[in-house]
Amino acid sequence: MEEFQKPKPGGKKRFNFYWIYVILTVILFALYFSGKDETPREEIEMGQLIELLQKGEISKIELVNKENAEIYTKEDPKTVKYTYRIGSLERFEETVEKVQLEKDIQDPIYITNVEHKRWGLDLLLNILLPFGLLIVFWIVLMRGMGRGSIGGGQIFNIGKSKAQLFDKDNVPINVTFKDVAGLEEAKVEIMEIVDFLKNPDKYTKLGGKIPKGVLLVGPPGTGKTLLAKSVAGEANVPFFSISGSDFVEMFVGVGASRVRDLFNNAKQKSPCIIFIDEIDAIGRARGKNPINGGNDERESTLNQLLTEMDGFGTNSGVIVLAATNRADILDKALMRAGRFDRQIYVELPDLIGRKEIFEVHMRNLKLGPDVDRDFLAKQTPGFSGADIANVCNEAALMAARKGKESIDKQDFMDAIDRIIGGLEKKNKIITADEKKVIAYHEAGHATTSWLLQYAHPLVKVTIVPRGKSLGAAWYLPEERQITTKEQLYHEMIATMGGRAAEQVVFGQISTGALSDLEKVTKQAFAMVTYYGLDEEIGNLSYYDSTGQQDYSLTKPYSEKTAEIIDKEVSKLVEKAYQEALSILNSHRDGLTQLAEKLIEKEVIFGEDLELIFGKRPWGNNDKTLEDHEG
Ligand code: ADP
Ligand code: MG
Ligand code: ZN
Repeated sequence: MEEFQKPKPGGKKRFNFYWIYVILTVILFALYFSGKDETPREEIEMGQLIELLQKGEISKIELVNKENAEIYTKEDPKTVKYTYRIGSLERFEETVEKVQLEKDIQDPIYITNVEHKRWGLDLLLNILLPFGLLIVFWIVLMRGMGRGSIGGGQIFNIGKSKAQLFDKDNVPINVTFKDVAGLEEAKVEIMEIVDFLKNPDKYTKLGGKIPKGVLLVGPPGTGKTLLAKSVAGEANVPFFSISGSDFVEMFVGVGASRVRDLFNNAKQKSPCIIFIDEIDAIGRARGKNPINGGNDERESTLNQLLTEMDGFGTNSGVIVLAATNRADILDKALMRAGRFDRQIYVELPDLIGRKEIFEVHMRNLKLGPDVDRDFLAKQTPGFSGADIANVCNEAALMAARKGKESIDKQDFMDAIDRIIGGLEKKNKIITADEKKVIAYHEAGHATTSWLLQYAHPLVKVTIVPRGKSLGAAWYLPEERQITTKEQLYHEMIATMGGRAAEQVVFGQISTGALSDLEKVTKQAFAMVTYYGLDEEIGNLSYYDSTGQQDYSLTKPYSEKTAEIIDKEVSKLVEKAYQEALSILNSHRDGLTQLAEKLIEKEVIFGEDLELIFGKRPWGNNDKTLEDHEG
């Protein structure tokens, strides 16, 4: 299994720091020895010197720097034979003179004064050595601290981004699209982004704006990180990779400075991609409560990120790619235009996707003849790519434990059982019964919306579980495409279609429709109190667009009106439910066919609906995939 591996710092390409010590030591030694003459010289006492003088063997005495006497003999007048360390200069001169006078030497010698500028030795001893030692000591100290938790050695680099850069001479991994199974739409979208970078003119010529940020959203283990890494391999543009948590440090201001540094580096390398994995670590919604302050450091990091994304021009050739499995907790400001305004959804794999993921991860496995990928894919509903990678690995381990030559079907089955055990705790596994209920529920939505003129027909229905985080959210001010009362009402019927189908087919209803009910209730409430669409309430709106009124405490209407609202809302919802029931009762066959098909294929499309119910006489409205849970 090709796991993505970060190149280890201090690896082959990095300059090893310890070489500095070696080089420094060598230089110091070289200097030290270059300062010395090679010939051996003897240091002598005053007594010996007097003796030599009396014998007249000395040819020359040179006083070096007024502290050392270098003595040349007549025997070998070219080289220094003896040295004498001078205590008192006056006494030394006096002695030399007196001895020669006493003995009556014919050609007495005089002391010559020389200034030897022996650079090597002097510099070394007086400046370089202590200085060098200081530097070595300092480096050792800093690196020693660096290994501690606070990062002393990196203290000067702490504001630098820790992003890993991959470019054409620095691609340590070879994850390509081949290693990412399925996710075809995501791949196409991502490659389009790369194309933006490489041929910006093509798009800007027509006045288009190149997106600055792209957010990969989806449940854990679905291959978001893998997909992003594969872009590094495919794109042939520099790729900065960093994890959201890398920005976070215990020091205030560090995160913001790292963001700044990252963007500066990126701008120099443009066109390029910045990838921020697990962006929720910094992108969490900023605290609304000013009193407890929240996490200031994280917020300033996020603010800096927003500033940087606003700062660079649309066409500056830097695109920020980010991944998260918690899009719901991200700060809304991140999603605004000019920031992460593009989102790519990476969903749990369906039947075909799972089969392909099995294929990718079986590439390097020794398989027995009875291993059937289709069968395995059927056995693993709700599994993510990471879970499947896990199954393959577990199966290989099991086969090895039993000393087998190859991995066979039973090993895979055992591995699946084992991993289901882990997943059940996380509530991710659907039983066959549940699957049936879900299929009918979804078929109910699909059928009702297909048969209602003003409802948006679903173009794709799936029973692959979706993360709660992607559930339908009903944000009133952002809901714009719905206009007439008729449309709103038909939408409500379609929303009730799920629960109605459960009632029609099984005679009982489940808790699975919670989000449907929430949605429908909010919609009915909005129709009555905001949009003025209810006859009893009339043309009044209790919506407060300024957001300044806190209606959770005081209501803008009387108790009596409140009662009417309650009554009208529940009347509206009940009416929609009855309508859904009647539609489904009269199309029971189609509903069943659709549900069976869903159980079999897990995903169905508009074409399948058309085959069962025929063309919609009103044509297809524009609706794309409807997100909802249950
Ligand atoms: P995410 O970032 O979405 O949480 P990852 O990209 O880290 O998930 O995926 C974890 C592992 O699961 C990958 O390293 C890979 O082995 C496997 N995996 C997930 N999705 C796929 C896929 N579509 N194709 C192949 N392998 C996958
Ligand atoms: Mg990831
Ligand atoms: Zn539903």
